[in-house]
Amino acid sequence: MTTYPKDDPRLGETVLDAPIPEDACVQFIGVIRTPFATRADCPRQGDHEGPDCRIEVAPRFEPALEGLEPGARIDVFYWLHNARRDLLTQTPRSGRTRGTFALRSPVRPNPIGASLVVLVARDGPVLTVRGLDCLDGTPLLDIKPERCVHVGPKDAD
Ligand code: SAM
Repeated sequence: MTTYPKDDPRLGETVLDAPIPEDACVQFIGVIRTPFATRADCPRQGDHEGPDCRIEVAPRFEPALEGLEPGARIDVFYWLHNARRDLLTQTPRSGRTRGTFALRSPVRPNPIGASLVVLVARDGPVLTVRGLDCLDGTPLLDIKPERCVHVGPKDAD
């Protein structure tokens, strides 16, 4: 059984009041709203000049958004829920067959997508961003600030 350190929360820290999964199951933390209704509508990769999209974080996670300010660039991770998961090699339209792990195709054993997006605005638990490439209704896995942004020596924790 996995055990987690249960240090007392530090000043200002908040703790989710829900059971912690004991296995590698992920929990969806929200849903992504885009203008892309079909895969054909999606860009291959997001574009910071692309349309506004909304990330609707579940309200219980709103405190976890504190510190994300408009203009920030953030990594968004999502579950490409309509992708098949059983291809080891793939032949993209470009024609060259490659291993799944040599591609950014949505088709992979764990269909995790990642985009570096620009945060346009935040209204409570709802983020408006630009730079996504996923279907409307794609489940949200995680949000992180762009790497290499150092606010202070201890802020990397
Ligand atoms: N930017 C992410 C990455 O690099 O990890 C995803 C790139 S993947 C090439 C983007 C494509 O995945 C889209 O063009 C669309 O064809 C497909 N796609 C988008 N959302 C999806 C979803 N929820 N389920 C399955 N396929 C999806």
